Amino acid sequence: MNPIPTVWLVGAGPGDPELLTLRAVRVLREADLVLCDDLVDDRVLEHVNPAARVLKVGKRGGCISTDQRFIHSVMIREAHRGLRVVRLKGGDPFVFGRGGEECAALREAGMTVEVVSGITSGIAAPAAIGVPVTDRRFAPGVAFVTGHVSGSGLPIDWASLARSRLTLVVYMGVARCEAIVAALREGGLPVGTPAAVISAAHTPRQRHAFATLATLSATVAAHELTSPAILVIGDVILAATELGVAEPVLATKRFGIPD
Ligand code: SAH
Repeated sequence: MNPIPTVWLVGAGPGDPELLTLRAVRVLREADLVLCDDLVDDRVLEHVNPAARVLKVGKRGGCISTDQRFIHSVMIREAHRGLRVVRLKGGDPFVFGRGGEECAALREAGMTVEVVSGITSGIAAPAAIGVPVTDRRFAPGVAFVTGHVSGSGLPIDWASLARSRLTLVVYMGVARCEAIVAALREGGLPVGTPAAVISAAHTPRQRHAFATLATLSATVAAHELTSPAILVIGDVILAATELGVAEPVLATKRFGIPD
């Protein structure tokens, strides 16, 4: 038997359980204890071992959330007791959502950490409306940024991003949309730059709208495109729509999937 306890940091993908990896499903089936984020879709939890205990530890921005130290201490204590502990996180465990911090705390406590990558919403949400984030006809690459910098986080240089020509994929950005747009405009990004917002991608509540940098925050507000949502800013949006981006378009239909 391995004397060093292991904790699994598992990505749940953006919502639809069909976007779980086979490894994630296997690890969930073998779990004794699952600590799971708010954002994880209930349908994903159907893959958890029925005998396992599932603890919901909310980390939703703006709401009261479970203390990070509490999450660390439960994982460490239960893994030391010999339980197979799984930390289940929305999307990919190492893309925002404090996966790096949790991994560091676990390793510091002498645990082995196994990371099971998941499909991140920053790629899957744009893809759900036909936006290929690195279409090289439109952008040389993509930047994943947070719209919500926590107290300990590094500041974001929006002016450099505005000049970068990269596709900008903003997580946790809808609440601060106006400020983000202002910073990008100040950095020189043309107001006609295409943009899109996708809310609750790959769930039955998925909705999206197209806009331009000039109309993005009004579009978000007008259509109540609320968290969880991804903002995409850049010419790659043109690859998704032949409709142009002058008028916002709202749709609930999933890309490419007929009614
Ligand atoms: N680890 C996650 C991100 C966690 S941060 C991942 O890789 O996807 C939480 C943010 O992710 C939300 O505020 C939102 O910006 C984004 N997000 C997560 N799930 C989403 C979904 N289904 N649709 C749109 N955005 C989502």
